[in-house]
Parts: sequence; C-alpha cells; structure tokens
Amino acid sequence: MNTRVLKINSVSQQKDILTAAQLLKNGALVALPTETVYGLGANALDEEAVKSIFAAKGRPQDNPLIVHISEFDEIYNLVEEVPPSAKSLAVKYWPGPMTLILKKSKLVPDVVSAGLDTVAVRLPNHEVTRAIIKAAGVPVAAPSANLSGSPSPTTAQSVFEDMNGKIPLIVDGGACRIGVESTVISLTGEKPSILRPGGVTPEQISEVLGDVAIDDAVFHNISSSRKVASPGMKYKHYAPATKVVIVKGDREKYYDFLEKQSGNFGALCFEEDASKVNCKYVSYGKESNSLSQSNRLFNALREVDSLGVDVVFARYPFEDGMGLAVLNRLLRSAAFEVIEVE
Ligand code: AMP
Ligand code: MG
Repeated sequence: MNTRVLKINSVSQQKDILTAAQLLKNGALVALPTETVYGLGANALDEEAVKSIFAAKGRPQDNPLIVHISEFDEIYNLVEEVPPSAKSLAVKYWPGPMTLILKKSKLVPDVVSAGLDTVAVRLPNHEVTRAIIKAAGVPVAAPSANLSGSPSPTTAQSVFEDMNGKIPLIVDGGACRIGVESTVISLTGEKPSILRPGGVTPEQISEVLGDVAIDDAVFHNISSSRKVASPGMKYKHYAPATKVVIVKGDREKYYDFLEKQSGNFGALCFEEDASKVNCKYVSYGKESNSLSQSNRLFNALREVDSLGVDVVFARYPFEDGMGLAVLNRLLRSAAFEVIEVE
C-alpha cells in the first residue's frame, strides 16, 4: 500500500479534511495529529476497521482503544451515563489531554473496549483533527500511531517510520505540543482514579474532584498475568532497541556514576548536562521544565538507537506536575530498571 502524507495546517483546507474524513468513513486507517501524540484512527463503530488498527500496530487484542469525539455532546451516544464529575472535568479540561473512562453504551463494539464494559473517551485539542472527525460524522478510535512497544510518535515523520506501507494516509498537522499521551481517569469506581498520568496533572484533577487515587500501575511493573484497571499499563512500552537504565540521584551523583562506567554506554540526559557528560548522549528537555521533557522524550527515545551504544543511563525526572507523566513513560521504556545513587 502506498502511504500518502498530507500536510493540513488549517481547517480552511476543506478539500483535504474531506479526503481524510472520507477514508475514515469508508473503513480505512488514517493517522491523525493531536496535542498529545499522533493517533492511528478508524471509525469506532466499524468493527472491521477497528480490527485493522490492532493488525497495523501489532497491538495485543486485550488493550482497549480511546474513542475521540469532535464536540462534547457526541459523548452521549458512547456511554450509558455522563456523571456530574465527567461534566465538571470536561468543562475545565476539554478539549485537551484528558481521557475519561465511563460505562459504555451498546453502540460501542466490544473490539474497541477489548471486551470491557467501559469505554475511554477524549475530545482532543487539535482543530484539524476535530474537523476531520466532525466531517466523518463518526467517533474515531485511535491509539498512538506507533508499532506496539515502540515510542509513541510526536511527528508525522515518526508515524511514517512505523506505518509506511500499512495505511493509506498520514495527516501531518505539525509536531505535538505536549508529546506524551493523555491522562486517563476512571470515573466508574467509588473514587476517581488516575490510570495513566498525562498532560492534565493530578493536581489539576484534584482541583475539580477533590480526592483522587493514582493507580499502582503508574509506578510499578504489573505482571502480565494480573488483572489491571488499564490493560495498556501491563505491556512493554516506549522501548528503544537499546537498553535504558534510569539513574536516580542529583546531578553530581549522576556525573560520578557515568565516570565510573566502562563499556559501550551513553547518556539520556537534560540539555544542561550536555557539556558535563563524557560520553555519547541524547538530551530530553530542560532540567526544570517538565513540558520541555514531555515534548522531547519520545523523539529522544527514538534517537537513542542511533548512538550505537549497548545501554543508555537516563537521568531521573522531577515527579511533580507533568513530571509524573514523563517519569511513567521513562520507567516503562526502562522496564522499571532504576539504580539509586543517593
Ligand atoms: P494508547 O491509545 O495507545 O495511548 O492507549 C490507550 C490507553 O487507554 C491504554 O493504556 C488503555 O489500557 C487505556 N484504556 C482504553 N480504554 C480503557 C478502558 N475502557 N478502561 C481502562 N483503560 C482503558
Ligand atoms: Mg500507545
């Protein structure tokens, strides 16, 4: 299959928007830009189209998809009930990097929810993609547009690397502003629970809902045999071919640690470390700016493989605000291997 890359910078490109919408309506896969990462979209109500997402990515069948809508009211078709908590969060953070888990309606095929009785819904903050969903007239199921296990794509070029020959169209809407996936919040239990940290921080969720739980799987490796609230959290994720090991400690301890290493290693560090590390390196953002880290992390993880080293030692990010999302992705890319140098 020939994969076309179509630049759409503005909603005034009506003809191009209709091209993408028509493909989705006809059951084809289209890669779409969002503010978080690029998504691999299909008509969420078309079972065969959704199955082809799993095939193109090599995604495990039990890992459910997020359904994207173009305006709030479209949620009513997808879920049994919209609780007040969902409305309050949506008023504040939609369109935006937040996904809500609610009881699903009968309209949503089981293949989308991987057999769960819940569905994940998001209203993305990218006007081109919202215009495409609106023109298609159907909700769009879209996981990240990478091969399963690889770092999520934050540019059309990264999507092309993974999906060339597998899908007919990639919409190039520029680099993703946030660069890590959405915050996933379950509203189906007694207490709201963050299943995956992302662009909306736990502090921001608490401002609206008060006490919020953070699921265990955010920090710990969950064995693949165990039942988890968010099935995606148990799989190997974001991993370059090169081994990643995280080093926890302050800047000086990190430099000391690198000095003591032998063998063919590199560093995955902050921009400020560049002149201090005595080895090949890739940097992922600025030390005290978690948005710059989330912006860079997935590209940096893709670049690591071009260093030609056996292992990279990554600096541990700060955990507050957006930092929790950065830490969560980095932990997964390192299969939770952390060395403490305090
Ligand atoms: P991706 O679209 O690749 O970012 O992955 C979607 C994430 O949302 C995965 O971690 C899924 O486990 C999670 N997810 C999607 N639907 C549900 C659901 N119904 N319940 C819990 N987690 C979900
Ligand atoms: Mg993904």
